[in-house]
Amino acid sequence: MTQNIKSFEEAVEFHGHSCPGLAYGYKAAEYALKELFSGRSQDEELVAIVENDACGIDAIQFLTGCTIGKGNLIFSDYAKQVYTFIKRDSSDAVRLVQKDKTSMGDFDAKTGELGDKVFSNTATDDEKKEFFERRNIVMKKILEMPGDELYFLKHIKPEIPQKARLFKSHKCAKCGESVAESRARVENGQIVCIPCFEEYSRGW
Ligand SMILES: [Zn+2]
Ligand SMILES: [Zn+2]
Repeated sequence: MTQNIKSFEEAVEFHGHSCPGLAYGYKAAEYALKELFSGRSQDEELVAIVENDACGIDAIQFLTGCTIGKGNLIFSDYAKQVYTFIKRDSSDAVRLVQKDKTSMGDFDAKTGELGDKVFSNTATDDEKKEFFERRNIVMKKILEMPGDELYFLKHIKPEIPQKARLFKSHKCAKCGESVAESRARVENGQIVCIPCFEEYSRGW
C-alpha cells in the first residue's frame, strides 16, 4: 500500500473538535479511498457527492481533497448519510450508505438516552459529563471498526454530474448587488436576489 491517508488527529485539527460525526465521515472517506485506489497512490482527482452537511463532511473534504471551493464536492441537501465518490477519469465510483444499526444508541443504549437529554437541554451537569465521556468511547469504537461494518459500499457506474455553468449576472433592483441569473427572482417585473425576494414574500 502506498496510500497516504491523513490521520484522524489531523482531521480533528481541521474540523476544530473531535466528535462521532467526524469519525463517521473519516471512516467513509477512508473506506472509499481504499476501495477506489487499493494499493495505489491516491493522486487521481475525485468528485464527491454528499447528502448531508454535518460534521462528517469536514473529514471527507480533508481526506479526499474534494472541496466546495474546488467544485468537486457536491452537496445534495437530502439529510441522508450517503456518500458517492467518483474518479475523475470515470474508471470507477462507489456509493456508501451508513448502516442502520450504527447510531450512538445502538452502540450503547445509555449513551443514546443521555444524548436525548443533553440535546433537549434537560440533562443535569453530571449527566452531561457522563454523556461526553461515553460519547468519546463510542467515537473511538467507530474509529476502530472496519469500514464495511459501518457502511454498505457498492461500486456504481461512474457518472460525473455536469459541471456548474457560468451564468450571466444581474444587478438586484432592490439592493443593487449582483446575482447570477440562475438564482435570480422576478418581482413586479424586476430582477431581484433571493434575500430581497424573500423579504417581500414573507407573511403573504
Ligand atoms: Zn463535529
Ligand atoms: Zn437584493
